Parts: sequence; structure tokens; C-alpha cells
Amino acid sequence: MLDLLKNILVRYRLIFLAPYVKGVTLRRGEGEAMAVLNLSELETSRRPFISSLLEESGTDVTECYQCGKCSAGCPLSHAMDYQPHQVMRLCQLGAREKVLNSSSIWLCAACMTCSARCPRDLDIASVMEALRRTALREGRRPKEARVSLFHELFLSSLRNYGRIFEVGLMGGYKLRSGDLFSDLELGRQMFMKGRLKLFPHRIREVGEVRQIFERIRDMEGNG
Ligand code: SF4
Ligand code: SF4
Repeated sequence: MLDLLKNILVRYRLIFLAPYVKGVTLRRGEGEAMAVLNLSELETSRRPFISSLLEESGTDVTECYQCGKCSAGCPLSHAMDYQPHQVMRLCQLGAREKVLNSSSIWLCAACMTCSARCPRDLDIASVMEALRRTALREGRRPKEARVSLFHELFLSSLRNYGRIFEVGLMGGYKLRSGDLFSDLELGRQMFMKGRLKLFPHRIREVGEVRQIFERIRDMEGNG
């Protein structure tokens, strides 16, 4: 059931992020700022940061040898301020402020392409997830606030109905983001083709889905 939830999340995040990133300027140049990192200042935070990522994601970022295969396959790297291999490098260096404040961790759709391509068998997608969770725990303001808002509404729909209620999700998103008028024509076409239901449908096993949410909340509370 947990894998199923994860697959649904990835599918919806990719669908949502695709039009969103169309309007985003290429950000790769920002990665050049890595050249001005003060390595001696980072030395004290480096080891604890690497250990916490290992504990949370099961991935030892020091094993990355910067081949770049993860970034070459990432469908969203063009919109990220740091590409996935640069995120890994920042983690190796202990540059937690840069990486936890980056847009990359919020634009990542957890599609796992990078993890599947890595010749070192590193789970970069899990590192991204660990970074997102760390940023949220520390109360950081997500650089991509709209992505974070969508994430929150998506999970809320899943917890309430056991599936996604698209009209409710997009209505809530539009009201809270203030982005009222984009994609109206697309919405109209989907409605005419019967792809959008006006009323939510709750699955029979919604109790099981809620239990999963409770378990995750307990795990995070104990983490
Ligand atoms: S594919 Fe793996 S080894 Fe290569 S840069 Fe990405 S994380 Fe590092
Ligand atoms: S999981 Fe990897 S390939 Fe997929 S969006 Fe995130 S960083 Fe890119």
C-alpha cells in the first residue's frame, strides 16, 4: 500500500510540475556559486550532515564520484538551481545551508530516474527526500512555495478520500496560491470529457490509508 501511495504521488507531482517548470528560467548557472564555498568553515558541519543523511536516506553521499549520470537523466534538472550531482557534491562538502535552501529539493518529483541510473547504486531520490524532510523539520521556508503547497494539498486529499479528488485539490490550490486563472481551458476540456468529477469519491479502504499516515507521523515524531 505504501508503494502504491508513493507511485500516485510521483505521477501527480510530475503532471503538476511539467507545466510549472515551463516558465522557469534555466537556473544551472547558479551552481557556479559552489566555487566560492569556504571549505574550512564547512568542515565542522560536514560529518554530522553526512551522517544524518546516511541515517535518514540510507545513502552515503561520500560514495558519489560526480559522473553526472543522475543529472543527465533527471527530467527536471533544467529548472533546478543545483542539478542532482551538484546537490550530492554540496552534501559531500557539508554545505547544508545552500542545499537546504535550494529550489532543487522542492522541484524533485521523486521519479527515481537518477537512482536507477547511478553506477554507484546511490539512491539520490532518497537523499532529496531526506533533504526536504530536514528543511521542513527546521522550519525553513520552501524556495518553491507553490510546489510545497501542492504537496500539502495532495496529501490532505489522499488522507481524506484514499484517492485524489482533483476538483477539490485544484480549487484549494488556486485559492491558496492566488493563481486563479491559469489552465481554465484545460480544466473545461477535462470536465467535458468526464475526467473531472464534481463530488469526491472515498475508497472503501480509506481507514488503511489513514493508518499509514498515522504511522508515518509517529515515525517522524520519534525521529
Ligand atoms: S550518478 Fe551517482 S555517482 Fe554519478 S554523480 Fe550521480 S550520484 Fe554521483
Ligand atoms: S528523483 Fe532524481 S531524476 Fe527524478 S526529479 Fe528527483 S532528482 Fe530528478
